Amino acid sequence: MNPFQLIPIGTSPAWYNPGEPNSGFLLEAGDSRILVDCGSGVIARYLALFGAKQPIDAVVITHVHADHCLDLVPLKYGISLGTLDWQPQLWLPPGARRRLDRLVSTWDGGGDFFEDAFEVREYDPGEAFRVGAFDCSSIEVPHYVESFALRFEHEGSSFGYTADLGPNEQIIPFMQGVDVLLAEAALPEDADLSAPDRGHITASEAGQIAASAAAHSLLLTHVPVENGFEAALTAARSKFVGPTRLATSGECYPVAQRLAAVR
Ligand SMILES: [Zn+2]
Ligand SMILES: [Zn+2]
Repeated sequence: MNPFQLIPIGTSPAWYNPGEPNSGFLLEAGDSRILVDCGSGVIARYLALFGAKQPIDAVVITHVHADHCLDLVPLKYGISLGTLDWQPQLWLPPGARRRLDRLVSTWDGGGDFFEDAFEVREYDPGEAFRVGAFDCSSIEVPHYVESFALRFEHEGSSFGYTADLGPNEQIIPFMQGVDVLLAEAALPEDADLSAPDRGHITASEAGQIAASAAAHSLLLTHVPVENGFEAALTAARSKFVGPTRLATSGECYPVAQRLAAVR
């Protein structure tokens, strides 16, 4: 039986950091293993880390951008061809099933491409849903397509993931008091922040969200290597005094026991 813990599988932004898959994060608690986002390269890395004998119980997608969902395709083939003896649920944001069907229709006209491998469901924003051992909730956040921040609770501990998002106020109450906040930090600190409809945030803005929401600890992800990882950490720490790290694939971060205060 696992404690509540997070293992990043891939942390690259839309463009790859060298050797690193796009977004994918494994949550474990008890006997449950769920994958949050499934961007390009995530399943290959998952198999390298855990092998095919450790099935994922569910995949939960934050939004239909390639770097968050494209590896659903090889995962579907692994299951439907019988290589992976997995029977995962697939939780999609509202409207995503139609978007994915459009994508798949470029090579498969059947319309049940994913249903062949997954038990497909769409979650309702604002309505709690249960995935494995986790109570989940979602809130829509501003981005270039509909994007949903997610929060997972298990036996009194909590993990929040901002997904991709632009600046907004709703994220603060939604993430209030989380033990571990995983926040995107795609923009460099010297980015032009004046665009009213921008769909990403800086590391210092991620730090400010963690501080305002009184999170215990902060993990940064979706940081382009070109921004400088140390620069991103320094910027986040200028706003948030709790434990702050760069999410690193393959590492295990305790949620129930919380991150150590080492900085
Ligand atoms: Zn992204
Ligand atoms: Zn995105």
